Amino acid sequence: MATITCVLTTKEIEELRLKFNGGDFKKTPPYAQYQVKGIDCVITAYNSKKVVFQGDNAEAYASNYTKTTKSSQTKVNIKNTKSTSNNTNLDKTFPMGGSDEVGTGDYFGPVCVCAAIVDEDNYKELVELGVNDSKVVNDKLILKIAPILMKKLKYSLLILDNNKYNKIHESNNLNKIKALLHNKAYINLSDKVDKMPTLCIVDQFAAKDLYYRYLNTESNIYTDLHFETKAESKYIAVAAASIIARYAFLTCMDNLSDKYGCTFPKGANSAVDSFAQHFIDEHSYQELNNVAKLHFKNTEYLKIK
Ligand code: MN
Repeated sequence: MATITCVLTTKEIEELRLKFNGGDFKKTPPYAQYQVKGIDCVITAYNSKKVVFQGDNAEAYASNYTKTTKSSQTKVNIKNTKSTSNNTNLDKTFPMGGSDEVGTGDYFGPVCVCAAIVDEDNYKELVELGVNDSKVVNDKLILKIAPILMKKLKYSLLILDNNKYNKIHESNNLNKIKALLHNKAYINLSDKVDKMPTLCIVDQFAAKDLYYRYLNTESNIYTDLHFETKAESKYIAVAAASIIARYAFLTCMDNLSDKYGCTFPKGANSAVDSFAQHFIDEHSYQELNNVAKLHFKNTEYLKIK
């Protein structure tokens, strides 16, 4: 168990809160702005701007903030007590398959879906690497551990670029697109292994019935899937798939940024709106088709010359 205390800026505290958007927010303790529970870590942001990361995974969560420059006045105080991590929340049925998608909430960049298999042999090492849901593992850690996972695990990764996405979205809703991609990922994965795990979990975005209804136009359907919400925090195979998908997303965003000589923002907030306006002013509205998901509300706010 580790306890890490940092003093963060107001901006950093807000960033941290946004990172957990939709997460497990606890009843706010006195003198705190918020308290949120990640995997093996509870984060409490106090009114004093002191932020306490507590739990076996505290260091991973805090690492984005503990290495910031002096100007942000980060004070770090690490108290390490003996690790007692046993991950009792995690299911231990092996081999285990899992799948998750990334990029569906981001205006810019592709949708990436990954299905991966974790064996009993990999499990311990993955836990030691800090494999958790990519939503709560910071990007720095993702860049570090995803390439290791991609070497160790059997997986299938699909990247739907914006151009194709916009075309498909003309006649299919986002959930159907997700279902098609998850299905294809499992079909591809099953081609790579002799035998698929009995337990394969989809991080649920639609109920089972609906998922299979989305696939009624498909000739090849992977069945026997288990659907569960927040699966990335309960099943290590889903967490691993999520990290690989997030890695692919980050890499694609970097490539887009290199190509256009700018840094594309993530998410879909008002900063994204102004960036998009800037982008079409500099390039063209047509070019936006290659970098953004045009059906998002953000598109409506743009002034097209
Ligand atoms: Mn998910």
